[in-house]
Amino acid sequence: MPLVCVDAGHGGSDPGAVGPGGELEKDVNLAVARYVRVYVSRCGYQVVLTRDSDVELKLDQRVTLANQAGAHAFISVHSNLAVKSGEGGYTQDPGPRGLETFYYHGSSKGKALAERLAGTVAVSSGFPIRRVAPSGFYVVKYTLMPAVLVETGFLSNETDRSLLREPAFLDKLALGIAWGIADYLKT
Ligand SMILES: [Zn+2]
Repeated sequence: MPLVCVDAGHGGSDPGAVGPGGELEKDVNLAVARYVRVYVSRCGYQVVLTRDSDVELKLDQRVTLANQAGAHAFISVHSNLAVKSGEGGYTQDPGPRGLETFYYHGSSKGKALAERLAGTVAVSSGFPIRRVAPSGFYVVKYTLMPAVLVETGFLSNETDRSLLREPAFLDKLALGIAWGIADYLKT
């Protein structure tokens, strides 16, 4: 039975992005990851979360967990924050919004999963796809299975942020993520 590793980004003393209303990326990520677990389990797949509480994990711990578990797919869940430089230094940029998925540039399977997932999350959430791009992010580079890092919208954008505050919307994001994973693992 295929095993899916779902990684909620950040945690503990590392909040990740912090929205203008005090929204913490680490909390958004964990909520989405838990919903993903429910949906992926319904597809008959096994699921392991790298964290299921507000704890801090190093990037290599996340990768080691996925590799040692022998996962068939790895999804790291994040939410985004855009910044721009101005006279007073860096400030949040409210402009950018939508979904981004990243795969390791050397992985054709990772690319296929990233493309699939961007499409299914766009359908489930209504968020626009901003980009599907290669990257050297640690968690997609060093995991041994097809791996994607998904940015589920921008906490710095008012439209995205107001939706990311709603548990029902995080559930929709998770449905799209699980759907993309299940679809990919079937092919
Ligand atoms: Zn993040």
